[in-house]
Order: sequence, then structure tokens, then C-alpha cells
Amino acid sequence: AKSRIGVTGLAVMGANLARNIARRGTPVAVHNRTSARTREFMEAYGDEGAFTATDSLEDFVAALEKPRRILVMVKAGAPVDAVIEEISPLLDEGDIIIDGGNSHFPDTTRRTRACAERGLRFMGVGVSGGEEGALNGPSIMPGGDPAAYAEVEDIFTTIAAQVDDTPCCVHVGPDGAGHYVKMVHNGIEYADIQLIAEAYDLLTHVAGLDAPAIGKIFEEWNAGDLESYLIEITGEVLQKTDARTGGPLVDVIVDEAEQKGTGRWTSQDALELGVPLTGITEAVFARTLSSLRSERKAAAGTLAGPVPGAGEDRTDLVEDIRQALYASKVVAYAQGFAQMRAASKANDWNLDLGAMATIWRGGCIIRARFLNRIREAYAEHGDVENLLMVPYFTEAVADAQDAWRRVVATATQQGVAIPAFSSSLSYYDGYRRERGPANLIQGLRDYFGAHTYRRIDADGSFHTRWGQDGTEVRTDA
Ligand code: NDP
Repeated sequence: AKSRIGVTGLAVMGANLARNIARRGTPVAVHNRTSARTREFMEAYGDEGAFTATDSLEDFVAALEKPRRILVMVKAGAPVDAVIEEISPLLDEGDIIIDGGNSHFPDTTRRTRACAERGLRFMGVGVSGGEEGALNGPSIMPGGDPAAYAEVEDIFTTIAAQVDDTPCCVHVGPDGAGHYVKMVHNGIEYADIQLIAEAYDLLTHVAGLDAPAIGKIFEEWNAGDLESYLIEITGEVLQKTDARTGGPLVDVIVDEAEQKGTGRWTSQDALELGVPLTGITEAVFARTLSSLRSERKAAAGTLAGPVPGAGEDRTDLVEDIRQALYASKVVAYAQGFAQMRAASKANDWNLDLGAMATIWRGGCIIRARFLNRIREAYAEHGDVENLLMVPYFTEAVADAQDAWRRVVATATQQGVAIPAFSSSLSYYDGYRRERGPANLIQGLRDYFGAHTYRRIDADGSFHTRWGQDGTEVRTDA
């Protein structure tokens, strides 16, 4: 019998998705460019379900029922194009190529069009949850032709994580929409992780706690509003003892963060769309700064600043940091969701943002109790411009803001860098200002570049003849 779906690319994600699909009763054909990997896969997992192992793309395609459903799980970038080029000539009209990797959304839109010209259907599907999620239930963000999605919907919803009997998988929108939403998910993940790192830094250097003690604090935090996968694993990572030194493992890990690009893409797109995305963007820059390790080493002995921890009253600090983390997190999510809203409008994707919060509640890296609140906000208020304006979040931030301000002030005085905490607070303070200082920016632009300004008391555009007689002229009449 032929297989209902094929998976090509059997590294960790492809292998685990193939196993997840097969374990739930769907026959799967498997293929990998280097066939040794396919053989290893079959030796290790071949008895977990109905697998058909294939060595060539011809055999792979021949093993599939029609319309063929081909899940491509190869390295993002050029390899995806290479696989499409190789496999397309072997396919028939209506067959479906599904890219489940972390592709950049404009590539997905381009590939969707190119495949359509060949009569093939292409889907760009975001998959989150890492290795473990892929095997036991990821969050799945499928984008592409709805009719194509209907052909794979049962497979995807069956393998996805389930929360309250709802699968963490919903059709996101056409062409690049699925990969876009996955990209923003990863960007939010960057912000969440950066906020956690800043809290850890403050608890270490201002509160003077060691890693296991901070791990315990995160464990406690995980019992409240902050309950989430990332807070939970932070507790574990901080409490892990290193076998070699007998001390905390984190203390011997090099402090240089790497990145694969999804956070940077999210920020780049925010700049293109004109959406203020400070939390995620600061998180990307913080990773970049961390990677300047030798420069930091030189600067540490040269640049002046306070030594953290001196004379701080620590009694309420831990609770203040928890509240600052929560408020900053609200801002990061408000910004990320505002970005998806803007992208949805710009690309005509018609994204259901409440559904995104729903499918992120389980399976993915940013899964959190908090997402239920976002889901409820959209259910209750429909098209929300900014989540900060939804009463639940308005009140949550109002309650946390005194603590948030104390933490930002303390960190600043003590010389601890908190780019995500402080930029989130600045965003909040900027957003709630009816009249900001951009009037002066416009005045300056008019002075040096005759860029004109608008007036609060009259319609039209105006220019002052700064260098001449100083009189004002209307420029649009
Ligand atoms: P990798 O990104 O490490 O890619 C390795 C796979 O790609 C191998 O099967 C390799 O085949 C294949 N490959 C590379 N180049 C080509 C090519 N030119 N033609 C054909 N096949 C090629 O695998 P992962 O499983 O880590 O990730 C797969 C995708 O999922 C990526 O897009 C990744 O970003 C994404 N992803 C990964 C997550 C993770 O936690 N790792 C989480 C979520 C998404 P060969 O064995 O022959 O070298």
C-alpha cells in the first residue's frame, strides 16, 4: 500500500515528525539525501509504525498516494529550493509540497508562486517545539492554499499538541503567512528569553543570589502568572550541577548567545512595516552584544561604572523583579501581536490573532498560561490594536508598574544592563503619552531640510523660512 505522506530530510525535526505521524497510525514514506541516515532511522525507529524507506527521490515519490503529500524537513535556505527543483519534475498536478522548516516568509511566498506555475501546491508550515515537540506534539502554523491544507489537516491536527481538547494547529493564511507567524513566535521567544536573562542578571548581581537559589525562585514563579515552559526550564537549568566542577552548570557556560536569524528577521520586518518592536529587537541586539566577548573583556577593565550589589535593600527586590518581568512580557507580546496585525493588513492575510494565541498555548517554546489571557482578549474585544488597551492587560501593567520602575531605576543606578526591561518601559511610557516630543523633531527637520510640519490648530502643511525672514508659509495649498 502507498503511504499517505512522505518526509524527506531525516535530521532531528524530520525524523521526529515522521515518527509522530507514524505512531498515530498514518503510513509514512521516508527519504534523506544521504541514505545512510535513512537506514539509521529505520534501524532505530522502523518498528514504531508503517514506514516505507526509500533511497531515491523516484522511489520516494512512487511510494506516495495521490495527491502526494511531501513534507520537506531540510536545512532552511538554498537546500529547500534544491529539493523543490529535484522533486518537482517527478510530481503530478495537484501534488503538495510542504516546507516544515524555518524558512523566511518571502521565500515561501516566492516558492508558492513558482510551484503554482508548475501546477503544484506549496505550503509553508511553521513547526515549533524543538525536538521534543516534533515527536510528542508540536505547535503547527500551516500557511498556503486552504484546499491543500484540507488534504493534510487531519494528519497535522492529530500530531499537534492538544490543549483542552483543541489541537495546537490552525490554518494561518495564504502563502507566507504560516512562516511569518512562526517567525514572530520565534521573535517573541527571543524577548521572553532575554527578559529571563535580565531577571537572572539582577538576581545574581543586585540581589546577590547564586544560581540554585535563583532556580528555586523561578520554580516559585512558575506557579503563578508567569507559568510557562521557558520559566519552568529556567528553574531546571539554573539548578543543574556541573559534573566536572561540582558547581552550577550555568556558571561554566560561555556567555555568548548564538542565533539562527528568526529574531533578526522579525525585527527587520518590524522596521519595514513601521511597527515599534523594541522588546524583540533589544533581545536580538543583546545577543549580538554578548557575542563581542573579547571587546567586552577589554572594556570591563577600562570603562567606568558602579559595581552592582552595593548597599541594596533586597527585601522586596525579588518580587519587584517578578513584576517587572511580567509587565515587560506583556509589552513584548503586545508589540509582537501588533506586528502580526500590521503584516496581516499589509499582505491581506486576514490573520486570526486569537487563533494564534490559541495554538501557542501548547507544543511550542513560548507556551504559557499567559496566552489564555491573550486568547480571551481577542475573543472578547475582536480586532485589538494594542493588547495594552485590553482591560485585563491595562490593569496588570498598572499593578506592576511601580515595581517595574523601581527595578529599572535600581538596575540603572547599579550599572546592570537591562535593555529589554527598560525599553519595554520606555515604550509603555511613550505609548501612553497623548503629546510626545516629536513636534521638536518636525521643527528640526523643517529647519535643516524644509521637510514641513503640520499644526495642531490648522489644516495643511507648513514651512518656516528659517534662514530668511522667519515667516511661515503654507506648502500644500
Ligand atoms: P538541519 O537544519 O540540521 O538540516 C539537516 C537536514 O537537511 C538533513 O536531512 C540534510 O540531509 C538535509 N539537507 C541539507 N542540505 C540539503 C540539500 N541541499 N538537499 C537535500 N537535503 C539537504 O535539520 P533540523 O532537523 O535541525 O531542522 C530542519 C528544519 O526545521 C530547519 O529549517 C530548522 O530551522 C527547522 N526547525 C528546527 C528546530 C530544531 O529544534 N532543530 C525547531 C523548529 C524548526 P543530509 O543528511 O543528506 O545532510
